[in-house]
Amino acid sequence: MSFVTLKEILRGTRENGYAVGAFNFNSYEDVQGIINGAVAKNAPVIVMASMGAVKYIGLKATAYMVRGIAESAEIPVCLHLDHATDLDLIRKCIDVGFTSVMIDASMKSYEENIQETASIVAYAKKMGCSVEAELGRVGGREEEVIVDEASAAFTNPEDVPDFVKRTGIDALAIAFGTAHGFYKKEPKLDYERIAAIAEITEIPLVMHGGTGVSEEGFRKAIRNGISKVNVGTELKATYVSAIRDVTAKNPGEGDPRKYMCSVKQDCSEVVQRKIDIFGCAGRG
Ligand SMILES: [Zn+2]
Repeated sequence: MSFVTLKEILRGTRENGYAVGAFNFNSYEDVQGIINGAVAKNAPVIVMASMGAVKYIGLKATAYMVRGIAESAEIPVCLHLDHATDLDLIRKCIDVGFTSVMIDASMKSYEENIQETASIVAYAKKMGCSVEAELGRVGGREEEVIVDEASAAFTNPEDVPDFVKRTGIDALAIAFGTAHGFYKKEPKLDYERIAAIAEITEIPLVMHGGTGVSEEGFRKAIRNGISKVNVGTELKATYVSAIRDVTAKNPGEGDPRKYMCSVKQDCSEVVQRKIDIFGCAGRG
């Protein structure tokens, strides 16, 4: 049984200079591809469902499917709910067996963010589930969560110890210049800010909006203290283009598995490349 919490899977990341990849999935084929990729690299892996993905696949189907795949994979697998603003859905995901949830109350005031996050932590702790929260605001669009450029705000290092202490979270998403979705140009990231935050807290730090960041950008962020890197947009694009490719090459293909198999394969390859960059190969 290799189904673990976020807290467990991130243990030792900063000390050992690597990060664990967290990959969004929307169906059976991409999550199977993600886990296959991690198995090929003998790496720990976090698979993430957004609120939209949970609604699309179904609550129990999401949890049981991933648990089923994880049970036959000999690597640690964490099932994480990404960017959730719906407290009721978060509790339902915890009840059904997610091993980690992200409560995103970053659009609320600082005090409200603390209160909402702490209430979810209290519930999650009883059920043996980890919690990630966000301080500052990562820009861009993550499905239903939209942050325009003017409202995006970098995380203030001075707020972090108080936030971590009063919420009791297991991981913290920080804003330092990345944004969700595709970039129009390579973003300018504030690496010193990551280091400053890592300096004053031991809480594992999470990087969102990694699509379009260079290989060296990832490595530098991890060297400065990032423990978890989220990858969503790139996998979505991979998924769609895999199906388009099969359709273009074999327009008469009648076996659905021929389409879906390429999704598995291509998602697995993207994940393996990321695992090499994040430095977590061989740590499963
Ligand atoms: Zn995100």
